[in-house]
Amino acid sequence: MGVGALSVWEQSSTARVMAPARPRKLAKVPFVELADGRLQGVVSSGSDIGRVYVSSVAARTYAFACSTNNNRPCGGARGVFCKHIQALVAEAVLQYGAERVARYLAVEPPDGDPDAQALTAAMTATRPVKDDSSAAAQVFSRFLRHLAYLELAPVTSPLPEMQWFPATRAVA
Ligand SMILES: [Zn+2]
Repeated sequence: MGVGALSVWEQSSTARVMAPARPRKLAKVPFVELADGRLQGVVSSGSDIGRVYVSSVAARTYAFACSTNNNRPCGGARGVFCKHIQALVAEAVLQYGAERVARYLAVEPPDGDPDAQALTAAMTATRPVKDDSSAAAQVFSRFLRHLAYLELAPVTSPLPEMQWFPATRAVA
């Protein structure tokens, strides 16, 4: 025991303090994925810390769905994305890049340099409908698995982003 052990302790201690990567974004959109032909994820309620919204947009049709984890439908009329879906698109662009999101959803923004706003505008311009047959329960259970994974993961490991769905991929 000596300086070596101490410095190991100091390193891991420091790492633990610095570990929570990107807490602000995680708090707002804790879960986003491109899966099952949809952009889907979970968005925190702005007003109620205990409530989250499960939101999704389908590729090609842009049919969208948004409801709370208790299955209460969110606002948002035909052709108008609610703020949760807008936040979901913005977060997806941050995580995957606008081009990959555009390709997955089959969106062609008018100019060649898409961003979240351009993608949202291009999708809402088609007056997409609300999708009542949403897979909210399925998405929410994936979110819970995601949370369980984060709790089990070593604190010092980088955030896994969304690359941890091997089982789901195999089924699909
Ligand atoms: Zn919503």
